[in-house]
Amino acid sequence: MDETLWLHLAQDENLASPKAAQPGQPCPRCHQGIMDYDGLLNLVCPVCHYVEGGGCT
Ligand SMILES: [Zn+2]
Repeated sequence: MDETLWLHLAQDENLASPKAAQPGQPCPRCHQGIMDYDGLLNLVCPVCHYVEGGGCT
């Protein structure tokens, strides 16, 4: 695949999902907790216990 095209697609996907939680950023659900990694490298909100991404459970 053309590398430039791949980058373009990746950027589009990034713009299309602005709600993705980032470590150190406020929780996208409650906007109170600060997202942080737990022991399993999942991003977790300490306030509402929202878990971002990860899981094949
Ligand atoms: Zn939260």
